[in-house]
Amino acid sequence: MSKIIIVGGVAGGATAATRLRRLGEDHHIIMFERDEFVSFANCGLPYYIGGVIKDRQRLLVESVEGLKTKFNIDVRNFSEVLTIDRVKKTVLVKKTQTGETYEEGYDKLILSPGAKPIVVPTKGLENAKNIFVLRNIPDTDKIKDFIIQNKPKNAVVIGGGFIGIEMAENLVGDGVKVTVVDLADQILAPLDFEMAKYAQNEMTDHGVQFFLSDVVSEFSDEGKTLTLKSGAILHADMVIMGIGVKPESDLAQKAGLKLGPRGHILTNATMQTTDAQSGALVEDIYAIGDAVEVQDYIDGTQTAIALAWPANRQGRLVADHIAGKKIHYNGSLGSSIVKVFDLTIASTGNNEKTLKRKNVPYKFIYISRGSHAGYYPGAQDIFIKMLFSPEGKILGAQGVGGEGVDKRIDVLATAIRGNLTVYDLPDIQLCYAPPFSSAKDPVNIAGYVATNVLEGAFDYVRYDQIDDILKSGALVIDARTPLEYGLFHFEGAKNLPLAELRSRNGELPEDKNTPIYVYCNVGHTAYLAIQVLRNFGYTKLFNLAGGVKLYKAVKLYKPHAEPLPMVNPEQREVSPMVSNDIKAKISIDACGMQCPGPIMQTFKAVCSLEDGERVQIEATDPGFARDIEKWCENTGNTLVKNEKDGIIYRAVVQKGTRADIGFKVESSNENTTIVLFSGDMDKAMAAMIIGQGSAAMGKNVTIFCTFWGLNLLRRPKKVKVKKSFVEAMFGFMMPRGPKKMGISKMNFAGAGPKMMKGVMKKKNVPLLEQQLENARACGVKFIACTMSMDIMGIHKEEIIDGVDFAGVATYLAESDKAGVTLFI
Ligand SMILES: Cc1cc2nc3c(=O)[nH]c(=O)nc-3n(C[C@H](O)[C@H](O)[C@H](O)COP(=O)(O)OP(=O)(O)OC[C@H]3O[C@@H](n4cnc5c(N)ncnc54)[C@H](O)[C@@H]3O)c2cc1C
Repeated sequence: MSKIIIVGGVAGGATAATRLRRLGEDHHIIMFERDEFVSFANCGLPYYIGGVIKDRQRLLVESVEGLKTKFNIDVRNFSEVLTIDRVKKTVLVKKTQTGETYEEGYDKLILSPGAKPIVVPTKGLENAKNIFVLRNIPDTDKIKDFIIQNKPKNAVVIGGGFIGIEMAENLVGDGVKVTVVDLADQILAPLDFEMAKYAQNEMTDHGVQFFLSDVVSEFSDEGKTLTLKSGAILHADMVIMGIGVKPESDLAQKAGLKLGPRGHILTNATMQTTDAQSGALVEDIYAIGDAVEVQDYIDGTQTAIALAWPANRQGRLVADHIAGKKIHYNGSLGSSIVKVFDLTIASTGNNEKTLKRKNVPYKFIYISRGSHAGYYPGAQDIFIKMLFSPEGKILGAQGVGGEGVDKRIDVLATAIRGNLTVYDLPDIQLCYAPPFSSAKDPVNIAGYVATNVLEGAFDYVRYDQIDDILKSGALVIDARTPLEYGLFHFEGAKNLPLAELRSRNGELPEDKNTPIYVYCNVGHTAYLAIQVLRNFGYTKLFNLAGGVKLYKAVKLYKPHAEPLPMVNPEQREVSPMVSNDIKAKISIDACGMQCPGPIMQTFKAVCSLEDGERVQIEATDPGFARDIEKWCENTGNTLVKNEKDGIIYRAVVQKGTRADIGFKVESSNENTTIVLFSGDMDKAMAAMIIGQGSAAMGKNVTIFCTFWGLNLLRRPKKVKVKKSFVEAMFGFMMPRGPKKMGISKMNFAGAGPKMMKGVMKKKNVPLLEQQLENARACGVKFIACTMSMDIMGIHKEEIIDGVDFAGVATYLAESDKAGVTLFI
């Protein structure tokens, strides 16, 4: 009978012990655990603190008694192993309750001592009475008791790693106002910066505050006041230290076992240790779990990954090896996942930061898809970043979103393990029915897009490059619809919707080598536009990676002045599709639809309502909450409710004409055509208001700008074009764009319009330039009359983007279909 000693009785240790017993009844297995509890669920601790896991007992996966009776394991808790004598093959054990020590011999020794929270020595820390770390059950009890007894109103979490973020969320759940401080410029280090931003935004939406690239330099007032390096001062009823862990490797070091540069115990593929001096294999001492250094699965370099999967896997393998089986630990991939309020954030393999640091050549893609078929209710957004070598080897992936992110990252982790390349991903036959996925699963799509990139279909530019590209004056095309362009576009981008690209190819540069940067919401429409441009012969085509959606998440995210009201999950059961408190006539499920889908659906529904009636829209597009605000503002409808219910954004819109616009529209199915002949600001305003009102009633509205009316559509800045003397004179005399237009009466050399603008601002009436944007956002179509352009010497280049050019015939065709034709 051989005697096997295990140090540490939780993830790795308990797994090794039970597996060993399953493999044979002969061994004497002794498991030493310093603390009271063995085999508990560390991963569940934050959720117990937050009250999600209600019963503390549920955290105790297996008891000391259970391990003894069910597995015949000699469990000795409250027993700390102090030293190892490798020559005598004994360990010195201290009974922590009595202080008594004794020696115990071993044939094989397994070290699974885990890792401990890092606490940085900081001024004032020693006097603090409200600072906690979270590693085990006693830590959990201390935090839980403190919360119950002191009912903290605010807390600071130092460190935005997994434990810090989980604690922050659970404290928010307890009604605590949380601030996160982190030395890095991002939270959740396994993710790349832009992907981590989604998590940060989600937390901000839930009221969490962040101080990034900052550290605590001093604690005062017994820990209740924290001074940051930046000078900021935070008040905290409690503080959680979650800045990471360091390996519990003192015992191994004292025993002369070799450690890695960050203090982890070095192991080989059979999880055996090495002598620090000679470098010889120490066959009878194994080490597993958080305390060890292993190989990176992706490239075989040394790494250390403190996660439950490696600890459990290594525990089992070591038991197999002791039982005489052949084993080989293939290295750690670092697949991990975390719930951040209503988001799921998962990753596997190497991230971009790591690849850059290691100088590994790589390519990347982003894809954005629904968790299942968009037409089946409840689809949620999934955003995936995948990294791969120029040969197609998958190097890593990260996913953020709702339901189904875990499944996709798990499939990609499996693909990595199976040595599949990106070329294999489209070939993976995944199960599909509308409630679960799409016929082309996001994993298949990731494969298609990566293949396109490797085959040179286009190049990417990134969210952090596009501003400079725009500044340089390069041609940037917004390939989305005018409605989407109206809701948001990059200043200087030309709106050439994919659907119009072929008919408007005359607006493209003659030189086919001109670099063209194309963007859309997520990259797909831009990709399609790029294919059209390629077919036209253009050679330098770039797609904005991740589209507007990623750019907005990283660069433009602003928390709502007041966080969106969150629906209490307990009320969710009784909250049907249409809220109880606000009766809506129509209810739209736009979940899974990308922008502008939800807005278009809202638009259609509002058209069919009477004034004062309401529509409720549910969407999962994270931009929806802001888009609907802007849309209501633009169209004069009233946003009655804008809330977040889990992953779902819910808005209730009441059809209603805004008092400040003062335009009452009648319901009709016919179209409206307005001929804007005048170049006066007040008359153009009337055209814009009538246009918006009609559009809000569901009419197709065309504003035909002719003669002086063309001024409305002129670019504000002078455009270099060749003009005759008369044309140049006309151009000089005519106002350039809505900002410069005068009023029809009492203009007083420009003083009149100024006064009018002042009054409009006071009364909160949007100015003409905003009205023009609003009208475009409502779908109003603008046509510049080519005949009057010709007469007045206005060139196409001088007209703003997104305007059609047509002659009188087009106008007549439009007005033929119109029930109302107005001349202004
Ligand atoms: C709050 C929290 C949440 C987590 N959530 C996740 C998660 O969601 N997903 C995930 O993958 N991982 C998670 N982890 C990490 C995961 O729990 C660890 O990776 C895993 O437990 C490591 O196993 P281990 O056996 O190496 O160490 P541990 O499970 O920590 O066990 C080590 C044990 O050894 C004992 N010990 C140490 N030295 C001695 C000694 N000299 N003598 C006797 N006993 C000793 C310690 O008291 C400890 O109980 C979480 C960890 C924490 C703390």
